[in-house]
Amino acid sequence: MKTNPLFLILITGLSVSACNQSAETNASADLQNNPLMEESTLPYATPDFSKIKNEHFKPAFIEAMRQQTEAIDQITANKEEPTFDNTVLAIEKSGVLLERVSNPFYALTGANTNDELEEIQEFLAPKLSAHYDAIYLNDALFQRLKTLYTKRSELDLDQESLKLLENYYEDFEIAGANLSADDKDKLKEINAKEATLSTKFNQTLLAANNAGVIIIQDKAELAGLSESEISALKDSSDWKITLQNTTQQPLLQSLENRDLREKLFKASWNRADGSKNDTKAIISELAELRAQKAKLLGFSNYAEWSLQKTMAKTPAHVMDLFSKLIPAATAKAQNESDAIQAMVQQSGEDFKLEPWDWNLYAEKVRKAKFDLDESQIKPYFELESVLENGVFYAAEKLYGITFKKRTDIPTYHDDVLVYELFEEDGEPLGLFYGDFFSRESKRGGAWMSNLVTQSKLFDKKPVIYNVCNYTKPSEGEPALLTYDDVVTMFHEFGHALHGFFADQMYPSLSGTSVSRDFVEFPSQFNENWALYPDVLKNYAKHYKTGEQIPQTLIDKIKNAGTFNQGYALTEYLAAANLDMQWHMIPADLKISDANQFEKDALHKTKLDVVHAVVPRYRSTYFSHIFGSGYAAGYYSYLWTEMLDHDAYNWFEEHNGLTRENGQRFRDMVLSRGNTLDLEEMYRAWRGSEPKIEPLLKARGLN
Ligand SMILES: [Zn+2]
Repeated sequence: MKTNPLFLILITGLSVSACNQSAETNASADLQNNPLMEESTLPYATPDFSKIKNEHFKPAFIEAMRQQTEAIDQITANKEEPTFDNTVLAIEKSGVLLERVSNPFYALTGANTNDELEEIQEFLAPKLSAHYDAIYLNDALFQRLKTLYTKRSELDLDQESLKLLENYYEDFEIAGANLSADDKDKLKEINAKEATLSTKFNQTLLAANNAGVIIIQDKAELAGLSESEISALKDSSDWKITLQNTTQQPLLQSLENRDLREKLFKASWNRADGSKNDTKAIISELAELRAQKAKLLGFSNYAEWSLQKTMAKTPAHVMDLFSKLIPAATAKAQNESDAIQAMVQQSGEDFKLEPWDWNLYAEKVRKAKFDLDESQIKPYFELESVLENGVFYAAEKLYGITFKKRTDIPTYHDDVLVYELFEEDGEPLGLFYGDFFSRESKRGGAWMSNLVTQSKLFDKKPVIYNVCNYTKPSEGEPALLTYDDVVTMFHEFGHALHGFFADQMYPSLSGTSVSRDFVEFPSQFNENWALYPDVLKNYAKHYKTGEQIPQTLIDKIKNAGTFNQGYALTEYLAAANLDMQWHMIPADLKISDANQFEKDALHKTKLDVVHAVVPRYRSTYFSHIFGSGYAAGYYSYLWTEMLDHDAYNWFEEHNGLTRENGQRFRDMVLSRGNTLDLEEMYRAWRGSEPKIEPLLKARGLN
C-alpha cells in the first residue's frame, strides 16, 4: 500500500527558509480562489476534483509548510510550561493544511499523473524533506516533549493521548534528538554518508543492470518464447534481454536453450559482483556505517535500533520466525527439486538441475499437475460482481456494513467508482473510491490510501481509495478478472476496512498508521474470504449464464495455490535472512569480503541446502535494503503472512464468517489504529501468541 501521507508528515518536518520571499509573494496571490485552501463542501469533506487544478498544488503546499512552521514556532516560543495541549496536541494540529493538500496530490501523482504534476513533485520533494527534517531536529520542540514524556505518568492522560505523546517522543528519539550536540553532529555525518552510499549503490546497480543486458543475434536461440515475447525483445537487428531486479528472470520460465538460460542467470547473479559496476565495497561500508549509527544511538546493532517500533520488536523475534520456517521450507523445496529433476529426465534430458533450469521445468510440472486455464475461470469473475457480491458481501456478513453507489461525487477520472458505506444502524461510515483499470497515467501495482483520514479531533470520517491495474475491457465488454486480480481486490479492501473502522481521536494514530510488520495484516487477512464457500457462491457466477463456478475449477485454484511454495518461501527466507545478517553486525566488525559474508550467512542458517534454490536477491543487488528504506525490514511480508493465516485459523475455529466474529475482530483489532502495543493487541484478540502452523498449512508445507 501507499505510505500514508500523514505518516510522511510525521517522519519529516518544516522550513520557512526553504521558500524564498518572492515565491511566498507569488504564492499568496495564488491562494485566492484556491480550492485546497478551504475545506471542501462535498460530503465527508472529500476533495473536490472538479475544482482542483494542477496549478493549485504548488502555492498550497508552500503555504501549508509555512503554516506548519509558524505553528511549531509558536509552540517553542511559548513561555508557559509545556502541557499536553500546548505541545503535543499543538503539534498534532499543526499539519492539518499540509495533509489536506497532500492527500489529493498523492492520489493524483499515483493514479492519474501528468508531466506538470511530476514537475511539481520534483520541485516539492527536497522542500518537503527539509521541512520535515527541521521539525525533527528542532531541539526546543524536543525538550518540551521530553519534559512531558519524563513525567507522563503524572499527567493523567487518557490512554490514546498518552500513546500520542509516547509516539512523538519516540519518533524524535529514534531520529537522534536525545544525543549530545557532538553526537548529533556525528549522526548527521553518518546519515549524510549513508544517503550518499545508497545513492551510489542505486546508480551502480542501474549501470550494472544495463551492462548485464544480453544481446541475441540468432533468433533460434530464443526458442520457447512466444512470437509476442520475441517481438518485445526486438532491438533493431538484434534481440535484447534486459535484467529484472530479482535473481530469477521471467524468461527463464520459457527459454529452451540451456546455454542461454545459464548465461542469462549468471548475468543476473553476477551483475554487480566482479564487474566494473561492483557494489560489494558499497554494501560492506553501508552495513558498517549502520552498525556505527546504531552504536551511537545506544544499540548493539542496526536491526535492534530499527525494529523498536515494530510488532516484532527485536531481531531475535524475527530470527525465531525464520528458524521455525526454514526446515519446512527447505524440505518442501527439496521435494520440488526431486520432482523437477524427474521432469528433466522425463523430457529426455540428462543433467543435474541448476538454478537456471528450475523455472522452465517447474512450469512443465505445473502444467502437468496444476494447470489453471485463466480463460475458463475469468467468465466467473466479473468486476462489479466480485466487488459488490464478493468483497462488499463478505464485509457486510462480518461487520454489518452496507454500501450504496454514488454517482454525484466528482472524481479525478471517469473510471473511478464511488460508494458510500453505512453502519448496520444506517449511520454513515465513509466514502470508498475504487479505481480499478490500468492506464498510462497510473503507476503499476495496487494500493490503498486516504483522501480524508478519520479523526475525532477534526471530526472526520474516512474517505478511502483503492487503486488497481486491471485490464480495461473494450467498449461494451464485461470486465473479467483473473483469480489473482480477485485476490488483489480483497487485499486492497482489507486495507480499506482498517481505515474505515479507525476510531481514533488523533489522525496520526488513526487506522493504517501502524508499523510495516502489521500494516499488511488486515489486507492479507481479508484475502482469505475470496475462496470462502458462502462468499464465493455469492459472487463467482458466469457473467452470461449466471451459473455458479464449478467445484472442479475451485479445486484447481486451491491446488495451484500451494505449487512451488517450497521454492518461493526458501528464496524469500534466504533474502530476508541476508537482510537481517547484514544489519546485526556489531559496530567494530570490518567486512573484508561481502561474498564470503553472504555465503556464511546462508550456510549458518541452513538456507543453502537445496542446490538449485537461490536467494530472491543477492546482497549485491538487494535494493530494498541498500537502495531504499527496507533495511532490516524485508521480513515484514512474512511476519504479516503469519498473522494473516493465524487470524483466519481463529475464525475457522470459531464458526467462520459470522457477524459476531467480525464484530469482535473489528472491536479488538481493526478499529484500534496505532493506539495499542500491537503484540499485546493481537494476543488479546487471539488468546495466544501468533502460531506458525497455519502459514505452513496454507503454503502446503505441513
Ligand atoms: Zn497491501
